[in-house]
Amino acid sequence: MNTIAELVTWLRDEDAARLASLWQHADRVRRQSVGDQVHLRGLVEFSNHCGRACAYCGLRRDHHELVRYRMTEDEILQCAQQAVSFGYGTLVLQSGEDFGAGTDWVTALVRRIKRQTPLAVTLSLGERRPEELAAWRAAGADRYLLRFETSNRRLFERVHPPRPGEPPSDRIGLLRTLRQLGYEVGSGVMVGIPGQTYDDLAHDIRLFRELDLDMIGVGPYLPHPATPLADPVGRPSVPPADQVPSSELMTCKVIALARLTCPRANIPATTALATISPDRGRELGLQRGANIIMPNLTPARYRALYEIYPEKACLRETADQCHAGLASRIEQLGREIGGGRGDSPNFVHRRDASAANDA
Ligand code: SAM
Ligand code: SF4
Repeated sequence: MNTIAELVTWLRDEDAARLASLWQHADRVRRQSVGDQVHLRGLVEFSNHCGRACAYCGLRRDHHELVRYRMTEDEILQCAQQAVSFGYGTLVLQSGEDFGAGTDWVTALVRRIKRQTPLAVTLSLGERRPEELAAWRAAGADRYLLRFETSNRRLFERVHPPRPGEPPSDRIGLLRTLRQLGYEVGSGVMVGIPGQTYDDLAHDIRLFRELDLDMIGVGPYLPHPATPLADPVGRPSVPPADQVPSSELMTCKVIALARLTCPRANIPATTALATISPDRGRELGLQRGANIIMPNLTPARYRALYEIYPEKACLRETADQCHAGLASRIEQLGREIGGGRGDSPNFVHRRDASAANDA
């Protein structure tokens, strides 16, 4: 499973019997490595302001029709209390690259959540300065999610341009900084970006392993009509036989292969997978390697405005409806809802190994 050629073979495989064996293998490794518990992370999309112009995302700064919002500290704290009342162990704070949510503001927010709740705090705020990442870690933030989106540097630079006056992004360098700061580190990719080949995707999976990721998030690329990538004219293209489809099946393959290459990582069945496959996306993800779900706690009046792609799953549900639906779906799979913070077994293993070395 370790060579690029083997990964490409799996990504291209369409044989039902062989794929059934891949799902079984991934599910077995998931059970042995991270257990049967499904951990729930309460997601708060607290700001849709963004200074970047990613060619794939509806929050891009050039999308002028989008009404922008930033939740107040009190509104976010209410979501945190709701997470506690639902029994979630983690709050995920996600936003565009919003420098209006400044260093001190985020520091105070993290401190308050950590003081007033037992929640682990995951940040997903895009590319921020190392000093800010250090300040938030010191304030108590536990984890950081930053997808590298694609390991193909040329494709990355086409779809993820630098902020005005800044050098090209170095998300992989930032992931290493996050690790040094002691964060539990998560990354991932979109599956089926225009111009993404099978070979690219195989290299993505190998990079998950090289970065020794604690959390891996993968979802299908979903076109947003107000973005350049949705326009067939001028977008990156490769021969049709090489282009990765942004499908339920391909996303499940990447989840399964990520589980086999990074057995102890926490892997969510993502909202994008549930969006492309509303009836069974989350269930398939959980049966093919995933062990995490991220129910949305964003208040309904903001949720529709966090439109990274259209018709996102759970768009019109309240947090209560989203929670009730997920709980019963997890039980129907014969799995249990995890208690506690649900730290990544990969992170715990690395921390314990390093403590043993120091002793
Ligand atoms: N701004 C932060 C960042 O870019 O890391 C966090 C929020 S951003 C909306 C979270 C993720 O959404 C991105 O890393 C990207 O993978 C995903 N995303 C954005 N546009 C998407 C699209 N059109 N289809 C699928 N996923 C998308
Ligand atoms: Fe902004 Fe993140 Fe969307 Fe890029 S993916 S435009 S950084 S919110």
